[in-house]
Amino acid sequence: MQIKTVIQFLETVAPPSYQESYDNCGLLTGSADWECRGMLCTLDTLENIVDEAIGKKCNLIVAHHPVIFSGIKKLNGKNYVERTVIKAIKNDIAIYAIHTSLDNVISGVNKRFADKIGLRNIQIIFPKKEILRKLVVYAPLPNAEDVRNAIFKAGAGEIGNYNECSFSSEGNGTFNPQENAKPFIGEFGKRETVREEKIEVIFPNYLQHKIVAAMKAAHPYEEVAYDILPLGNIHENVGSGIIGELNEETEETVFLKIIKQTFGLSVIRHTGLLNKKIKKIAVCGGAGSFLIRNAIAAGADFYITSDIKYHEFFDADNQIVIADIGHWESEQFTIDLLFDILVAKFPTFAVLKSALSTNPVQYFS
Ligand SMILES: [Zn+2]
Repeated sequence: MQIKTVIQFLETVAPPSYQESYDNCGLLTGSADWECRGMLCTLDTLENIVDEAIGKKCNLIVAHHPVIFSGIKKLNGKNYVERTVIKAIKNDIAIYAIHTSLDNVISGVNKRFADKIGLRNIQIIFPKKEILRKLVVYAPLPNAEDVRNAIFKAGAGEIGNYNECSFSSEGNGTFNPQENAKPFIGEFGKRETVREEKIEVIFPNYLQHKIVAAMKAAHPYEEVAYDILPLGNIHENVGSGIIGELNEETEETVFLKIIKQTFGLSVIRHTGLLNKKIKKIAVCGGAGSFLIRNAIAAGADFYITSDIKYHEFFDADNQIVIADIGHWESEQFTIDLLFDILVAKFPTFAVLKSALSTNPVQYFS
């Protein structure tokens, strides 16, 4: 199996077009054409992780964080990023980073986080815009159903918990076949008028190539008339953070103990407790200060995330409890998530979890 097979699969789970604008997801070193000998799942790629991959005969590291993040201008080993990249290249190790593409899908990083604390009725806190598009295609009436079926099969027409959503209207299409045309209906040099169905469907941007190809394959016309339109709609299953409910209202201190135990923490930094029972919980793995206001607006009693700065804690403003559990701690289960995703797809292949903690933060107690 080639590395591109793994990448193509990962990109159906977490499409690269869902990543944040500042991010650098994708294949960072190596070639997609290489034969994959084994995969190592990790949160971060450091020199010792590359060593671990070499030792375990894995030539593909599937990492959450991209080790090349803000660009590299020199490559002479003066810092850990350069040394890691050099070591990977010298040893023919491919590094693939999935980062915010996996953060932003509802089945991703935050779902695993929410599952760990038993949240139900989960929703994305801040759904993403500008990833949905509309396809409008015109097909002669007898062929419209075939075209509709083909584009549904390619993934168009999903809205929330519904699939095969479309709208159709009928009208007249005209065309006049010119020199070299091979028309399905009509004659050279004569304007033809045909009863056609206009089919409209919504789709996520990453499926465009597949859907257009399926549409053209199913359509009888030599030249298919169609429009791709950008939409301002949000995608409710793609975006930042997850909010959900505990099974029952819980005392704040009891909940803090549950978090401490679940995430293996020695300490939790949090804002003042509100002395009420809590049920609605917001979570965001990794740096989540940008979502404080959205978590409050969504009615969360408690927001668990990391990398909160001193002044950002004030934004809790007696409306919510913010708990900062540490960046690595909040994303530690992402390694299991990557492992589970890959093993489910490639059950007979060598998929391994890194045995090393990459947490750069230590606590002295
Ligand atoms: Zn992170």
